[in-house]
Amino acid sequence: MTKTFSRKVVLRCFFSALFSIAVITANTWSVFGQCSSCPVAKANDPNATNQLAFPPGDVYVDIDVRIQGTDEARQIIAGIGSWNQRNQANGSGVNFIIGPPPQTGTYNVLHATNTTLTNPNGSVNHTTVARTVPNRFDNATSTLNDATIYFNTGGALADPDHPDTSGPYYDPTQSGYDSIFQKETEHETGHDMGLSDVDPTCQQSGQSVMNHAIVPGCPNDNCGAKPLTVSQCDSDAVSTVPNYQPQPNGGGNPPPTYGGNYDSGGGGGGCTDYYWVWYESYDGGQTWYETGQVDYAGCW
Ligand SMILES: [Zn+2]
Repeated sequence: MTKTFSRKVVLRCFFSALFSIAVITANTWSVFGQCSSCPVAKANDPNATNQLAFPPGDVYVDIDVRIQGTDEARQIIAGIGSWNQRNQANGSGVNFIIGPPPQTGTYNVLHATNTTLTNPNGSVNHTTVARTVPNRFDNATSTLNDATIYFNTGGALADPDHPDTSGPYYDPTQSGYDSIFQKETEHETGHDMGLSDVDPTCQQSGQSVMNHAIVPGCPNDNCGAKPLTVSQCDSDAVSTVPNYQPQPNGGGNPPPTYGGNYDSGGGGGGCTDYYWVWYESYDGGQTWYETGQVDYAGCW
């Protein structure tokens, strides 16, 4: 299994022989109020309710027998195939296998089926196109082992604000019905690969499969909020998911660093030398490594 890291986070610690201050990280974009049209790892989303992601390795895709052989199944398989293609280069190591798992043994499984989602009060949920429900998982390690994608074919409406006049969201009489299940498979599988939704106020049409798709007047996402296949920016975001990083030190903050003998040699100049020490992280800031680069900051 080859791991590649297309996105690393760099941090520099400002220190003298006595103290270190000033931490700058590239993955704290939300702190600075930036708006991204690409998804982020759930681990970097303060609003995420969990950080679950399938572990590296095989995941069986178990399509409901009532769907098998239909065009919907073709689309699900195409959506899974799009992730498999991206996963060859994003370092996740996740490999989806179409078909139910072997009958003996324990395997990672992603199920897919149609349903009518309901709200907590029992009413039909008109606003959720699809949902992933984790069945077997370990929150301590953020490991997802078994989940089900529910396509809300019985409940989602094209215009949920006007339920009395709206047609269904999954509408076989409208354009886009030949791709909406592929797009939703890619979106929900993205969650199962550790991604958050793109902020709806920041999303750009066609940029990410993690875009929000319900736009009034656009059943089957036939206005193109979501691309047909997993995008580069989706795949780049997966590269930042903690589950897919090497963690030889078990996580933690950057190691304490001391200035050592960075003496300017001036002797008696009456000032103290300061230096920038550079760190890098491949897991969104959980684990840090010294790059070996040290830059002189000045003497005062
Ligand atoms: Zn979502």
